[in-house]
Amino acid sequence: MRKPSARDLPGLCARYNVKLSPHTTWNVGGVSEILFAPFTKADLTAVMKWIGDCGMDFYVLGGGSNVLITDEVLETPVVLTTGMTGISVRRENGVVFLDCAAGTPLKEVLSLCVKNGWSGLEFAAGIPGTVGGAIAGNAGAANWFIGSAVESVTSVERGGAVVKWSAGEITWGYRKCSLFGDGGRVAQSVSFMLRESERGKVARSVKEAMESRKTQPAASRTAGCVFRNPPLDSAGRLLDAAGCKGMKMGGAKVSEAHANFIENVGECTAHDILSLALTCKKMVRDAFGTSLCFEIKTIGIGDA
Ligand SMILES: Cc1cc2nc3c(=O)[nH]c(=O)nc-3n(C[C@H](O)[C@H](O)[C@H](O)COP(=O)(O)OP(=O)(O)OC[C@H]3O[C@@H](n4cnc5c(N)ncnc54)[C@H](O)[C@@H]3O)c2cc1C
Repeated sequence: MRKPSARDLPGLCARYNVKLSPHTTWNVGGVSEILFAPFTKADLTAVMKWIGDCGMDFYVLGGGSNVLITDEVLETPVVLTTGMTGISVRRENGVVFLDCAAGTPLKEVLSLCVKNGWSGLEFAAGIPGTVGGAIAGNAGAANWFIGSAVESVTSVERGGAVVKWSAGEITWGYRKCSLFGDGGRVAQSVSFMLRESERGKVARSVKEAMESRKTQPAASRTAGCVFRNPPLDSAGRLLDAAGCKGMKMGGAKVSEAHANFIENVGECTAHDILSLALTCKKMVRDAFGTSLCFEIKTIGIGDA
């Protein structure tokens, strides 16, 4: 790997020694030696070209609402997408297409849908983070997944090539999108395909979706569900039945409200969260023989 030279870094959006904890909903994470914070498509292309030219690996960070980042210094560059925001609207024969920059908060997309009575994303109400993060993890709730509303995804590949993927070229699974996962590309923008509906109807569905979240510790610092649900079961139910609720390690605590959430209850580190999560995983395996898998993504932590 060629050592980065300050001279040929895509200068405007490069930052050095940036604390990552403020960029995550858990409020944990160490320092990034080089963080790129692109604002425009051209910025992102330049960053990905530089990364490709250097033969470097990279991490992508959106809203940080589904990641556990190491407490250590992170040498691998981080591409933070939250500066790349914006939504444009196209209408064709009663179909509404929303072209959203990857760093746009999902909440903003939802607000626009409610305001205009556009239907298709109501289930996503209450899911924090960005459009890009939601696509990368095929975010979902109550058997609905965001991939079902996607018309196309535009990505930037390592090396800087911009590629538009139509819905037919993408495979969606439980918290999985075939385009992402091996770390070779970044979502630049996403086009959603929605239906014209009635404002009141969309608003009611959004309200219902929010109400179904009342069992979650929304006011605490968490990263959503830590573990994926095993087939035909619920990770939260298993964790609760194994006696994990309320367990604490350092500043990390298994939520009393929902056993699949770990809360930062003060002075929490990634190490605390990881130790607690692995202990809970073992308790479930010992009690029921079920091996839970992480839903959260780890950055700089290795095979957890
Ligand atoms: C209170 C709470 C409730 C939640 N409820 C739900 C829920 O109901 N359903 C659900 O699915 N999730 C839920 N989550 C988890 C999380 O909000 C979602 O997974 C969200 O979509 C992650 O988006 P993000 O921008 O924060 O992604 P990040 O956490 O920043 O990143 C998550 C992953 O996506 C990748 N990524 C991010 N942006 C891009 C991009 N532009 N291109 C390529 N890869 C990218 C990252 O590299 C990482 O691997 C919840 C979280 C919280 C805190």
